Amino acid sequence: MKISVIGTGYVGLVTGTCLAETGNDVLCIDIDEKKVNKMMKGEVPIYEPHLDVLFHRNIKANRLNFSTSLEEGLEHGDIIFLALPTPEDEDGSADLSYVLGCASHIGKLLKNYKVIVDKSTVPVGTSKKVAQAIANQTDVEFDVVSNPEFLREGFAVDDFLKPERIVIGSSSEKAIELMEKLYKPFVRSGNPVIIMDEKSAELTKYAANSFLATKITFMNEIANFCEKVGADVDKVRAGMGTDSRIGKRFLFPGIGYGGSCFPKDVKALYKSGKDSGYEFDILNAVIKVNDIQKKILIPRIEAYFNNNLKGKTFAIWGLAFKPETDDIREAPALYIIDELLKKEANIKVFDPEAMENVKHKYKNQLIYTKNMYEASKNADALIICTEWSLFRTPDFEKLRSNLNKPIIFDGRNLYDLEDIQKEGFYYSSIGRKTIEP
Ligand code: NAD
Repeated sequence: MKISVIGTGYVGLVTGTCLAETGNDVLCIDIDEKKVNKMMKGEVPIYEPHLDVLFHRNIKANRLNFSTSLEEGLEHGDIIFLALPTPEDEDGSADLSYVLGCASHIGKLLKNYKVIVDKSTVPVGTSKKVAQAIANQTDVEFDVVSNPEFLREGFAVDDFLKPERIVIGSSSEKAIELMEKLYKPFVRSGNPVIIMDEKSAELTKYAANSFLATKITFMNEIANFCEKVGADVDKVRAGMGTDSRIGKRFLFPGIGYGGSCFPKDVKALYKSGKDSGYEFDILNAVIKVNDIQKKILIPRIEAYFNNNLKGKTFAIWGLAFKPETDDIREAPALYIIDELLKKEANIKVFDPEAMENVKHKYKNQLIYTKNMYEASKNADALIICTEWSLFRTPDFEKLRSNLNKPIIFDGRNLYDLEDIQKEGFYYSSIGRKTIEP
């Protein structure tokens, strides 16, 4: 099939590349000229494991092409995916200007029947708004489908190629048939394609993300309570997670959820509720607790250093909002960096993939290092913000001799308490007792 994908970010590029991989002829459109030029030269503009192999293979086979022209996109595809940003607006709602602006532009360019597929995460009722924005500009027939995306950054290719489910929201039989045909190669193992109305599809995405954010937040509160009463969250987690009704995943406490989705999606669902006269009390609490959790290490660090961080040097391991991505949007590390900068501390940072994005944001306010040990050299303490695998088994001897004093504030609970005790560190983590050397 001939497919166009408008917006070639984390979702759009993975969607376009994976659809090309199953034999479709895909044109990816983006307004960012620099990004499009990079892709045309064969450069993958983001870090996403396994994407580069598929990207290069499909470019070589001429099944994956790029352009900045929406007009070309409209001419090329029978199915037009919208994978555009829906960032948080000032009032917490989803900013639909990218999606609706593009829909209106599509209306002006439409010459024959197309299926417009919304892959962006959008509030209930957006399909109708998209259809209206297009219909305001044209009499040509078209259908709008809501097809929320559930891929996870860091596992995006695998998630797209082998989805646990595909949700299609549409009332058009013609559009549903086309979508089922397009997705057939991805569900050969029997995972479901769930057909529903547009509103339910739109809400499914927000409900899923908000549920997961709530699960993380619940566990963060249990961890905070563990510290108050001397329980160990690792043990509580093991005891809870073995209950199949609860499950083992998303029970790891830490310094809050971040990323380009959970924070804005929880807020957007809360705001949608408010706009419809429904108060989502649970989401209000999730937002509040997560805001506190993101900075939970700061008062501990301050207390350790007698409320004087001025001139102290901190090493930070991990800047991306989670491992296996270079995405720093709403990353907890940024909140910690901002607080430390306010207190006039020096900060040496290291992340395996996110350094460029952080440099772009903080310029010369931070010291950028080539590896985790260089970051720790002559630092007064180490702060761990992202659970990259390479931080899990460090050379503790080297770390100890690099740091001015053996002090670790771990926001991701990477180390066993017994091990770290033997290594002679002061170690403060989440929901567990503090280890003193
Ligand atoms: P992104 O910011 O990485 O990518 C968006 C792209 O759209 C950018 O490259 C930007 O230049 C481009 N763009 C903006 N306006 C454009 C226009 N008018 N025409 C063409 N291109 C335009 O965003 P993302 O992370 O890929 O997210 C896209 C949507 O998918 C959002 O609604 C998000 O909530 C949702 N989503 C994201 C993820 C994720 O893990 N990132 C997962 C599921 C759903």
